[in-house]
Amino acid sequence: MTATLIDGKAVAARLKQRLYEHTIRLKEIHDLVPGLATVLVGDDPASEVYVRNKNKMAQSLGFHSRSHRLAANASEDEVLDVVKTLNADPSIHGILVQMPLPPQIREAAVLDILDPGKDVDALTAANAGLLMSGRARLVSCTPMGVMLLLKEYVGDIAGLEALVIGRSLLFGKPAAQLLLAANATVTMAHSKSRNLPELCRRADILVAAIGRPEFVQGEWVKPGAVVIDVGINRVQGAEGASRLVGDVAFSAAAEQARAITPVPGGVGAMTIVCLMRNTLIAAMLAAGLDPALL
Ligand code: NAP
Repeated sequence: MTATLIDGKAVAARLKQRLYEHTIRLKEIHDLVPGLATVLVGDDPASEVYVRNKNKMAQSLGFHSRSHRLAANASEDEVLDVVKTLNADPSIHGILVQMPLPPQIREAAVLDILDPGKDVDALTAANAGLLMSGRARLVSCTPMGVMLLLKEYVGDIAGLEALVIGRSLLFGKPAAQLLLAANATVTMAHSKSRNLPELCRRADILVAAIGRPEFVQGEWVKPGAVVIDVGINRVQGAEGASRLVGDVAFSAAAEQARAITPVPGGVGAMTIVCLMRNTLIAAMLAAGLDPALL
C-alpha cells in the first residue's frame, strides 16, 4: 500500500476533546448545558445501537441527554407529538429522530415540523436551503466529518476536481455543496450516470457514498487522488464471520491513491462526533452565542 491512511478515529478523538473542553467552559461561563434528545421508533437492532451510542457520547461530553422510544406500530401523530414537545423544551437543543422510520410514518411529515434550530442531523428543508445559500448553521454530520478530514489531510482544495458518487439528502447532496463552498470543481454521479470509471479517473478527490460493497475499482482511481469511502457494508468473510467493507475496493485503491479512508475507522468515526458538534452549535445559537470558534 502506498497511500496515507486517513485516521478518522484520531481526528474524531481530538475533535471530541475540543468539544468537551468547550462544553465545560459553556457551563462555567454561561451556565449552559447542551441537551440532545433522541427519538427511536421501533426495534431495529442497528438503529438501537446507533441511538445508544449517541446518548452515551452526549453524556460523556457532559451534555444533558434524553431518549424517547416508541413502538414499531406507533402512529404518525404520536411521533409528531413527541417532536412538538421536544421543539418546545428549552433544555433540549438538538433533536435526532433516528431514520429510517416505519412505513406508516412519513419522514417528510416529521422533518416538516422539526424545529430547524434543533435539527442536528440537518435534514430539514430549511437547513438544506441555508447550506445551498452559503449561510449554513447546522450541517449534515457525515459530510461535515468528510470536510474536517480533508481539511486535516489535504488542506486547501480550491480548484481540485471532486467527484461525489451518491446523491442522497443525508450525504451526497450536502457533501457536494460543502465541496463547492470550499471551491472544488464538483461532479455528482448516481445510478443513472454514464461512464462512472471515466468520471472517477478525473477526480482528485473521489468520494463514494453508494452502499454497494467494494464497488469502486482500484483502476478507476486517478494516481495521487484522495479517496473518501463513506460506505458501510456488512459482508460475509471467508470463515463465515461478517466484516465491514466500504464502497471502494480498498487494497487496489490504496495502490493508486495519495490518501484513503479505511472502513471502519475512517469517515464513520467522524459522524457521531459531528452530531455532538451540531448539538453544541445549536445550544450556542439558541443562547445567542457565536459558535464560530468550534
Ligand atoms: P442511499 O440513500 O441509498 O444513496 C445511494 C446513492 O448511491 C444513490 O444516490 C444512488 O443513485 C447511488 N448509486 C446506487 N447505485 C449506483 C451505481 N451503480 N452507480 C452510481 N451510483 C449509484 O445511501 P446513503 O444514505 O447516501 O448512504 C450511502 C452509503 O454510505 C451506505 O453504505 C451507508 O451505510 C453509508 N453511510 C455512512 C455514514 C457514516 O457515518 N459513515 C453515514 C451515511 C451513510 P440514485 O440516486 O440514482 O438511486
